[in-house]
Amino acid sequence: MSNLFYQTKSARPVLDRAEGIYMWDTSGNRYIDGSSGAMVSNIGHSNPAVLAAMRAQMDKSTFGYRLHFQTESSEELARRTAALAPEGLNKVFFVSGGSEAVESTLKMARQYALTQGQAQRYKVISRMPSYHGCTLGALAITGYAPMTAPFDPMMRAMPKVPAPRAYLDGLDPDDPETGRHYADMLEARILEEGPETVLAFIVEPVGGASTGALVPPEGYMRNVRDICTRYGVLLIHDEVMTGGGRTGRFFGAEHWGVTPDLIALSKGFGGGYVPLGAMVARDDIVEAVMQAGGFVHGFTYAGNPLACAAGLAVLDQIEQHDLTGNAARMGAALTDRLRGLMQRYPLIGDVRGKGLLTAFELMADRATRAPLPKELNAHSRLVDIAYDNGLIIYSRRTRGGLSGDHFLVCPPLIVDETQLDEIAGILDRSLAQFMTEIPA
Ligand code: PLP
Repeated sequence: MSNLFYQTKSARPVLDRAEGIYMWDTSGNRYIDGSSGAMVSNIGHSNPAVLAAMRAQMDKSTFGYRLHFQTESSEELARRTAALAPEGLNKVFFVSGGSEAVESTLKMARQYALTQGQAQRYKVISRMPSYHGCTLGALAITGYAPMTAPFDPMMRAMPKVPAPRAYLDGLDPDDPETGRHYADMLEARILEEGPETVLAFIVEPVGGASTGALVPPEGYMRNVRDICTRYGVLLIHDEVMTGGGRTGRFFGAEHWGVTPDLIALSKGFGGGYVPLGAMVARDDIVEAVMQAGGFVHGFTYAGNPLACAAGLAVLDQIEQHDLTGNAARMGAALTDRLRGLMQRYPLIGDVRGKGLLTAFELMADRATRAPLPKELNAHSRLVDIAYDNGLIIYSRRTRGGLSGDHFLVCPPLIVDETQLDEIAGILDRSLAQFMTEIPA
């Protein structure tokens, strides 16, 4: 009987070792890490250069409290991160994960508003569905009832606008009118709330677990930026999952050339080697807050030399091996393979994504977008079948009303075409097996 408890209902095998895109359990079974854990292990497992860099740092020091020492690795990682960030965002604040990164952006936004004499701005609008983390602040802006509902009375309910799921609403995602339509909903909500009370809008440039790699329709991101600017609302990009090259650009929002005011970063940034995250902020925001007395925030383990040394080595791998470019190329190749499966399996209703943030969605009827019956538990059943066939994928069932089950297929960015064939082959077999379980 284990003393550990997590959310998973069924116990999984014990992990023995991992290398590249593969993982092995203690019985010797091999799995393809087709979801990079939770879209974390972007450079693959057990990268020798990263392990060597970590060992070298461990021989020097593993912890130096950030208020007692500057460290070379944190200074250098901040410099490299700022160089990758959009122009004007050169201030970096390290944390140990995605929720911490999101919390940091919220608190920085709030303190900045105070320096601008805007104490009445406190509302953070987000999207439904969305996922921004499991701490209470991040949950308040998360649009995913199974995780938020038990804590409702503990949080101030923050306003939500619909995520732009054009495919569900029967709208053309390539039509700029579609992007405008969904962005208009944000403007309407800001006006309804009272613009003088709205602090920020937070958005994942490409949706992650909550929407299953939802790519915004043409014009959406640009319109959102313009609306935020018009009403003095700070724009926060949650790049926790999209950052670090996964979508084929270092930051997901680069696809649309939009510059936010604050960015939350984690997951692929540390690549699964250490808990690592960051807030990247506009220079003048940080300067105003620092001049007014400083950022009232900070985590004990933030910016520790070991985490930052690992982060630097991960960045080196991304850059030296053009893993961002490989994510774009292999993402296109993976999408082709998933579209091939879509032709053969009518229950695949949609294939979408950017780079290697790729997903497919199961539906009972492609034309009406009707969901599979809830009792089928497709989101967990197909994951289990694939797991038994040696492929790890990630799934959610989130849509209210018109609801489907989506599956993220997001291997490490080092994946090659042969390995994609292997992934597609296992998915093929798993889907065929799942079909036999659906009552006629
Ligand atoms: N934001 C997004 C977009 C995420 O996908 C996640 C995690 O899945 C988080 C925030 C929270 O990150 P963490 O689990 O590292 O706290």
